[in-house]
Parts: sequence; C-alpha cells; structure tokens
Amino acid sequence: MPGPTTMNGQRRPSRPRRVARLIGVTAIAALLWTSCSDSGALVVEVGSRNLDEVDSANGGPDDVGDDADNELIDDSGSRIPIGDFDDGFPLDSSKPGRSYDRFLIDAIDDIERFWTDNYSKAYGGEYVELRGGVHPAYPGRDSDLPTGCQFVGNYEDVRDNAFYCDEGDFIVYDDAGLFPEFADEFGAATVAVIMAHEWGHAIQSSTRRDILYSFATTTLELQADCFAGAWAGHVQENGLNGYRFSQSDITGALLGLIQIGDAPGSTAYDPTAHGSAFDRVSAFQDGFTGGVVSCVDYESNEPVPLQFGFTVEELSRPNPGDFPFGDEMFTAMRDDLMVFWEALVDIGEPWSAPDLLLADSRTVKCATGATISVAVGVAWCAADNTVMVSSPITKQYYDLIPGDFAVAYLIGIGYAEAVQSAIGSNLEASDRALLNDCLVGMWSGDILPFNTDPVVPDSETTPRIVLSPGDLDEAIRTALSLGDTDDERSMGTPFDKVDAFRQGVLFGFDGCFAA
Ligand SMILES: [Zn+2]
Repeated sequence: MPGPTTMNGQRRPSRPRRVARLIGVTAIAALLWTSCSDSGALVVEVGSRNLDEVDSANGGPDDVGDDADNELIDDSGSRIPIGDFDDGFPLDSSKPGRSYDRFLIDAIDDIERFWTDNYSKAYGGEYVELRGGVHPAYPGRDSDLPTGCQFVGNYEDVRDNAFYCDEGDFIVYDDAGLFPEFADEFGAATVAVIMAHEWGHAIQSSTRRDILYSFATTTLELQADCFAGAWAGHVQENGLNGYRFSQSDITGALLGLIQIGDAPGSTAYDPTAHGSAFDRVSAFQDGFTGGVVSCVDYESNEPVPLQFGFTVEELSRPNPGDFPFGDEMFTAMRDDLMVFWEALVDIGEPWSAPDLLLADSRTVKCATGATISVAVGVAWCAADNTVMVSSPITKQYYDLIPGDFAVAYLIGIGYAEAVQSAIGSNLEASDRALLNDCLVGMWSGDILPFNTDPVVPDSETTPRIVLSPGDLDEAIRTALSLGDTDDERSMGTPFDKVDAFRQGVLFGFDGCFAA
C-alpha cells in the first residue's frame, strides 16, 4: 500500500457501487448479517481468541492459528480425543500414528459419502470412487507408494505437500511434515479440508469430469477450494460421525488454506498457482454457503482472481509495497479515509470525518465523553470527533500479520464506526461490527489500483493511496484474528468477518447495504 500513486488503466472486476444517502438503510443491513451470523449449528467453543484475551495476553494477533487445542467437539459439547487408532490405520497399518488419524479416516469416509450424494445433483451420472486410494507418505515407508504424474513414489517428492494424480486416480499426502504441522498449528479440521481440496481435483479428473486440463490453474484450484468449502459446510450442518466443526476449526481451516496460497505476484498460469488468500477464502466461502452447485458454476463463470488485476510492474516490486511503520503511514491512511467517507456520507448537513489520534498506551481512552471501543486498541470518540488507535497495538499487528494493511484495517473500522454513528445506525454487537468490516471492504475496493471509478479520483490536490499485492490478504488475516470464536459474538465470527469484508470489496455499497 504505497501511496500516493496514479491509477493505471486496467479493467477491474465488475463491482456495482451506488453512492447514495446512507441514512435509514441500517435496518436492511441488520437483516443481511443476521442471516449468516446466527447459525444454530455452531458449536460453542472452549477457549477462544476473543479480543479481551488477546489483549490480556500479549495485546496482539500473535495467537492467530494457534487454536489446535479447541477443535472437534462432539454433539454433547465435549471435546473428543482424536488420537488412539488402536486397530492400525486402515490406509497403512504400519505407519506411525498421528493425532488426527481417526478423524482423517472418518473425514475421508464422509467425503466419499458426500460426493456419492452430491455428484449426480451437480453433474448427473454416478460418482466414481477413487480407484487408487489415499496414501500417507513418510520417510522410510515400507509399503510402496503408487506412482504416476511424474511421481515415482519417493517421500521427498511429496514432502510439504499433498496431491491428487489422475493417472492412477490416487491421493498422496505428507504424513510426516505437512499434515502433522498443520494439524498442530491450525487444528485437525485443516488436514481434512486439505483432503477435501485434493478430492476436488479428483472430481475434476478425466475419470469423472475431464476438465483438469481445460481451465487456468487458478480456476481449478479455486474450484477445489470451493468443493472443500462445500464439504465443510455440510459437516457444519450435518455433523461427521457426531463431530461438528467449531468456529476454531473453520478459522483454522481458512488459515491453513491461506498458508498454502500463492505468494502475491504469481500468475494464473503458473502450474502451482492456487490464488491469493483473498481468492482462496472467497472460493471456500462460496462452497461453504452455496454448496457444490456454486462451485460447478466456476466452469461457466471462471472466477477472476483479484490478485491478477495488478500490473506486472506492481507485482514485480521487490518490496510488497508496505509503508514503513510511522507517521507517514498513519497520515496517508487517515487522509484517504477522510476523503473517502466525506465524499460518501450524506446526512443532509455538513459532516466532517474524524481526525486520527495515536495513543502511546495499549488501552485507548477518549479525552472527553464516552470511549466507544471498536476493537482492542481502537476507539471512536464521538465528543471529540476522533478515531483513537493504540500505537503499540497497531505496531503489533503490523509486525505479526504482517503488513501495513493490518493497521489500515484497524483504523478503517474506527472510521466505519464513526460513519455508523453519523448515519444513525441502530445496529448492535456483532451486526454493528460486521458492518464495520464491510465498510472497510468498501473503502479497500475503492483503492484497488485497477479501480477505474473511485469515489474520489487521485489528483494533485487529493492524492489517494492505492493497495498493493498482498494488502487484501493482510486484511483477511486481520479480519480472522479479530473474530470471536466463543459465543460472545460481539465482534462476529472470523468466518462472518471475512465474508463481510469481501462483500464490501467486491460489491461496494450494495454489498454492505442491499440484500
Ligand atoms: Zn490443489
């Protein structure tokens, strides 16, 4: 997010935006968000990553993804021991045991059942089971691994990876490195979601769909993410042998997906391209909420990964375009938010966007009047018309997410809160927080470099900042880290926060305020 720079002339994905009076529309927004934040199927979590805890621990997002202890809860609400595969792992009885083995076996069974039930609905015809099976790979494996697709059966070739091979119709995964590390860092649900992603490639294979070589790599990868999301949504709704995914599981799965996303700057035709974190999370959420049919749609409406809207010049900068942490960064963000919101907010009388104040302390307190806490380290001070942020907490986000857009996100939700206040929003708790996320997304969409129709054009007198590759991914990580995984729901779940942010980026005003 360097700034200011001029806009380039690239076409952006269609993003209908209506600049309109915001007054009186918040009731619609309330309806919009309750539908997705109020699922009765969610399981209440033991332990969480809510902001108070973050604050009282270290005051930052340093525990992002570190929730492996609280996942996979049975229907009675108690946690399930997921190790102890006494009878030997069915896929390979001699392999070293892993904590996720039992769950993974159940997940594989469930993925097969899921496709048996859904394949004909999606494509017509019968689902064909995986002929070549699923194979854990580890150093010193004594039974032979299958071969094909240039894979000769060496553990080294699958290290830190998992893949599907259409020659032989099999899946191999790294059971010594990738899966144990991901299960440890993000929770066992993550390895099941990776498995569901690989199964998505099986669905695309010559045996079934024969589209493995007909689309850009990213389309296939994003469709596989979408299929994985569809399966995860099914588990959330129906359970899996009495297990359900908790918010931590889903958050962990999203963080795991992001972890194996592409470095910003990859191209769509790179055979290893998966898409950016923004794109991958979008695809997962499409499937999670829309089911398999929404993924099938990718074959007629290929997703346009947002990362590919950046120019070669933007993508090839050695530095991803972050501001150094400091005054210049804060000033540029503040100025842009003020320009943006003053152009949009129309309440029938003059309205000045708030100034930004930095506090040296970790807790922020308004000089006069009530302190309205927007997130840890972020407050809206109505009496002073200021947004106040904690300098040490923003620094922590800057270092840990990492990136400057993590800071922009925190400042952005402060400004969004001021906007809700100005338009008389009656939203409360998580509904209010989710609209803030959406409004940050709306602003972010406006400063995409390929936006040819910004609310206020870049000029000498009003220089705008512009997103660089990676900024949207930083926003996704920040939104995930700010979400509640317990039942308090004051901030919204990580899943809903990311979804709200995306709606704002992709659909602007309509994404935040229209059904
Ligand atoms: Zn893949």
